[in-house]
Amino acid sequence: MNFAEKTINALADLYQKNSCTQKEVLESLATAVKSKDRDSRQIHAYIAPETAQPRHRKADKSSKLWGIPIAVKDNICVEREEITCASKILKGFISPYNATVIDKLLDAGAVIYGRTNMDEFAFGSSCETSTYGPTRNPRDPECVPGGSSGGSAASVADHTAVASLGSDTGGSIRQPAAFCGVVGMKPTYGRVSRYGLIAFASSLDQIGPITKDVRDSASLLSVIAGYDPKDSTSADIPVPDYTALLGKSIKGFKIGIPKEYVEGIDNPELRKKLVEEPKKIFESLGASVETVSLPHTRYAVSVYYIVAPSEASSNLERFDGVRFGYREAGASTLLDLYEKSRGTGFGAEAKRRIILGTYSLSSGYYDAYYLKAMKVRTKIKQDFDQAFKKVDLLLTPTAPGGAFKLGEKSKNPLEMYLSDIYTISANLAGVPALSIPGGLIGEKKMPLGLQLVGKPFDEATLYQAAYAFEQATDFHRQLGNVK
Ligand code: GLN
Repeated sequence: MNFAEKTINALADLYQKNSCTQKEVLESLATAVKSKDRDSRQIHAYIAPETAQPRHRKADKSSKLWGIPIAVKDNICVEREEITCASKILKGFISPYNATVIDKLLDAGAVIYGRTNMDEFAFGSSCETSTYGPTRNPRDPECVPGGSSGGSAASVADHTAVASLGSDTGGSIRQPAAFCGVVGMKPTYGRVSRYGLIAFASSLDQIGPITKDVRDSASLLSVIAGYDPKDSTSADIPVPDYTALLGKSIKGFKIGIPKEYVEGIDNPELRKKLVEEPKKIFESLGASVETVSLPHTRYAVSVYYIVAPSEASSNLERFDGVRFGYREAGASTLLDLYEKSRGTGFGAEAKRRIILGTYSLSSGYYDAYYLKAMKVRTKIKQDFDQAFKKVDLLLTPTAPGGAFKLGEKSKNPLEMYLSDIYTISANLAGVPALSIPGGLIGEKKMPLGLQLVGKPFDEATLYQAAYAFEQATDFHRQLGNVK
């Protein structure tokens, strides 16, 4: 029996009934990882699975996540474990401390198991820029799992993890969750502590759960959310029990479909599966669905690709071959050491972002690019404020289609950037957004993701609506997430 096929909640039930032990669960997980995830010819959701050591902390058996193994993206610090952000420049760097989310999981009795693959420094949408080689999509190994949290999503879909943590700066939890047919939540900015998450773009980054179903997502977020004095941007707002509203009727909910998001979908099948059918399902559940407008949507990708690289260029300055990780040998001066280490330590996409960001922050260009982008960012945020005066939540596709083939977009960065067109605005506005399986497409029945976007700190409403949709459609069972 592979216990990684269980959901968090099903496994918790088995523990309650004494039907399995922690040892059995971890052994079965190790066997599943070993047989399905040996190297990059397989799914390769994990980085160095052979070195994965379960991490526990003593906790009461009644603790919320007692004995539940959770896989963690390679940009979240676990004390005394190597952390690399899938970059050569951090090879050999050992985390001196736990991220707050890790401490919270350990206190709740969870077991931290394994580090999942990602795009280098979370720059990407396909998991192809990892220095360890790509992760594949378990639904079709010719396809990418999405990115940057590709390993976290693939492990959950492939049943080599019960659940995992990812991070999302412009879609990196939701888009891979959509491509792999699982559930991914990007919480409100400030809802989850970023302490111990290696920063990509500090004003956009959030950690969140990737799970087999909506209930698991709610259970996991209830544990990792909350104020943290170690992160000055974390919000001091009480955390509700996100599972409390699951199963409650969504009758009377007002749902908005932003017209700017769906106008351009001219493939009739995608239109049907990502817009028309979900609309009908929500209406049949008693919600009303109307069209709303987010007029500044067309600037979102441009604004993001100024703001995110600017912050990234500043955050990545510290990786210079001196203090962290990798150092290139044979340098003759300090400058030479920086150049050589950074020159060989960073991959092409990381260099592209550092150069872009340094340019837009440099004097003379700052006003024209960064400052301008920040002003438009405010407009994008105001679009959401206006829309939420009329509706409770928004319904959109998570991505323009299903998973694409490995190599299909990796030569064209602009095309790659466009795959996040529906997810980026939620990060710019700081609002919560959740991706759930919304339909299946093609002969291989590849999953399509549906995104629900909510008011700030109103994750509970998103879960309530997502759960109702999940129960009505059953895609999570058709995809084999829940057996
Ligand atoms: N794909 C987007 C990017 O490359 C988002 C990545 C993320 O959310 N970390 O920047």
